[in-house]
Amino acid sequence: MDTKNVKEYIQVIGAREKNLKNINVKIPKKRITVFTGVSGSGKSSLVFDTIAAESQRQLNETYSSFIRHRLPHYGQPHVDGIENLPVAIIIDQKRIGGNARSTVGTITDIYSLLRLLFSRVGNPFIGYSNAFSFNNPLGMCSECEGLGKVDTVNIERLLDKDKSLNEGAILFPTFEPGGWRLKRYIHSGFFDNDKRIRDYTKEELELLLFKSDIKVTTTDPEWPKTSLYEGLIPRIERSFLKKEEGEAAKYKDAVTKIVAKGVCPGCGGTRLHPAALECKINNKNIAECVEMQIADLLDFIRTITVPRAATVVMAISNRLEHLNSIGLGYLSLNRETSTLSGGESQRIKMVRQLGSSLTDITYIFDEPSIGLHPHDVNKINDLLKMLRDRGNTVLIVEHDPDIIKIADYIIDMGPKAGVNGGKISYQGSFAGLAQSNTLTGKYLRSQTRLKENVRKSGTWLSLKNAQLHNLKNISVNIPQGVMTVVTGVAGSGKSSLVNQVLPKFYPNTILIDQKPVQVSKRSNIATFTGIFDKIRELFSGENHVKPALFSFNSQGACPNCKGTGVIYTDLAFMDTVVTMCEVCQGNRFMKEVLHYKLRGKNINEVLNMTVDEALTFFREEEIAATLKRLEDTGLTYITLGQSLNTLSGGELQRVKLAAELESRGNVYVLDEPTTGLHMSDISLLLKILDRLVEQESTVIVVEHNLDVISQADWVIDLGPSAGENGGNVMFAGLPKELINCNSSITGQYLKEYIT
Ligand code: ADP
Ligand code: ADP
Ligand code: ZN
Ligand code: ZN
Repeated sequence: MDTKNVKEYIQVIGAREKNLKNINVKIPKKRITVFTGVSGSGKSSLVFDTIAAESQRQLNETYSSFIRHRLPHYGQPHVDGIENLPVAIIIDQKRIGGNARSTVGTITDIYSLLRLLFSRVGNPFIGYSNAFSFNNPLGMCSECEGLGKVDTVNIERLLDKDKSLNEGAILFPTFEPGGWRLKRYIHSGFFDNDKRIRDYTKEELELLLFKSDIKVTTTDPEWPKTSLYEGLIPRIERSFLKKEEGEAAKYKDAVTKIVAKGVCPGCGGTRLHPAALECKINNKNIAECVEMQIADLLDFIRTITVPRAATVVMAISNRLEHLNSIGLGYLSLNRETSTLSGGESQRIKMVRQLGSSLTDITYIFDEPSIGLHPHDVNKINDLLKMLRDRGNTVLIVEHDPDIIKIADYIIDMGPKAGVNGGKISYQGSFAGLAQSNTLTGKYLRSQTRLKENVRKSGTWLSLKNAQLHNLKNISVNIPQGVMTVVTGVAGSGKSSLVNQVLPKFYPNTILIDQKPVQVSKRSNIATFTGIFDKIRELFSGENHVKPALFSFNSQGACPNCKGTGVIYTDLAFMDTVVTMCEVCQGNRFMKEVLHYKLRGKNINEVLNMTVDEALTFFREEEIAATLKRLEDTGLTYITLGQSLNTLSGGELQRVKLAAELESRGNVYVLDEPTTGLHMSDISLLLKILDRLVEQESTVIVVEHNLDVISQADWVIDLGPSAGENGGNVMFAGLPKELINCNSSITGQYLKEYIT
């Protein structure tokens, strides 16, 4: 599609958010525009913090102030104006999350269509579609109220089997020695009260735990002479699990210690009322439908040929097809949304949009290639084009050349990152970009080769009989002291193996991800890496005052803004206004503090230094070593005082890596570390990983990126495809052998890539 005939543009004038250098941008409407550039160049600042934020703000302005006050606040972005801006919908990788009632089926609306289908043509009819809803009293299992799971007593946690009843075998208040509930068991005459539970016969244990309604003649003076015996489990359930008040509330902590979520015995985990489960179409009930993988469900739905169900069948198949074609055919509709990965969440959101018939919307995507094998990327491309062809404007932040290629228009940000970025380096077609002199252009022209000196390992981490999720009881050996890349299409089982099974065998595994660290608003690079303490000591020694004076978290804080540098003004019916603190001019320190200097600079000037500048300023070994590590990860342009919550995901991951670069002999796991990284950042990342390996650590990377795979010392490929059809080891060995492995899709893509 050409951009010459574009009549309409979104015009951004004077954008200055974060590192943006007062730029003007014209973006063609009803086309696909991809934003490229190194990590930290300003793509997100332009697309999310400026364009998307302004669209949300304008939308909120259309509401009455009463409603506006209840909406999330979007501050005014730093931009002179944006003209011709259609409503924006952001499709990002934020996990959908949601409560236990939210599933892939409910969130895509496919479940409500299935309900309609069963209520129309199911046999026997049981009522309206609500009768199949686990979120409606009519359809839900009454035992678990539609959750499919109930709290059940975990016997291992309840009993100390090495003790007798008299010694306190029952680990729950009121059943412990001296507790009034224990008496009923001790005085029942059924048990040898001094016998260890471990030595009970099967029948005795059964009696202690489960039997009920047996007449007992008790020897306990406090109880009526004859009464009914009740086993431990029903007894605890009655007073502690099925109630919320009284003792159940009082012993809440003790209850959590002995219970675990288990499959609901009432509905077998299906969440539904028995009547709903009896209703079938072609021998399957609705629970069996949502249990199937989407690809299989699609086949099943197509077998339903009853004319009066034709429209519903069509609507269901369309949506299932979308999910399937986007590489999610391995999911089932009953999968809880809270367990989906970021990439899966993003693709589900995409399918929801494809179901709508809106036009003239701006769809904004944040790296849609995340989590996708090269094999699946083309499928995403078709859906992106589909959105455009319906008359929408599609904006994409992306690094993957296979997606960049489909752009009608490209805006390449740069030239570099942070203060050295924030401008537009190139705008135009893909062909033009590939010939340009920008970093992106250069990398598009470069040719990747397999690593020559592959490292060998003598020792192995061995994982035996892994069967979590779709893993097919596999045993895998991971070489120690080298870099292993784990590959396979989305849903093949990579994360299950490396993020969940591996730490069970080797609890010391260190996971390094791009998730925000839990820190206060005030944490910055200097505090996070620990050099701020040392800097304050230097100031303190030089000026003969306390180090705490140089902290904006305590004594040195500007009294007006309490060390935050800004003032929040809450104007009853309008957005909260954030303004720079006038007293300290945003530098967060008390005025007096700034009189103290270290080699001519005050503390605020030091915090405003970039890592680069600080490296020439600090000769002190301890500080310089940390700065050097930050430099090694490419973060030369970041200032010491920059707060962690303003870093991009890739920058944050590298700060975390820099904090690890000192340690030796660890096992590191990185899940898609190229997320958010430009091709030129990837070579930097590879250098850092190399360094970890040189320090005798084991590095295990889950990756789709072919540049990373080509530099592996060892590759483990899972497959052959996703979900039930995945979970096998397709290949384990050297990259140069992988390209000759015909049964591995990854091998085929790698072969094509390097030649
Ligand atoms: P990208 O999306 O291209 O990776 P971002 O737009 O997220 O980059 O970030 C742009 C750069 O701006 C990053 O280097 C980030 O560290 C920097 N930055 C963030 N907040 C500020 C700020 N308040 N002032 C200056 N630079 C900032
Ligand atoms: P990959 O990392 O290769 O994309 P995953 O390990 O995430 O694959 O998923 C492998 C399979 O396990 C998929 O079928 C996925 O749907 C399933 N799965 C992953 N996490 C869960 C979970 N929390 N509950 C149920 N199934 C899961
Ligand atoms: Zn139930
Ligand atoms: Zn202040």
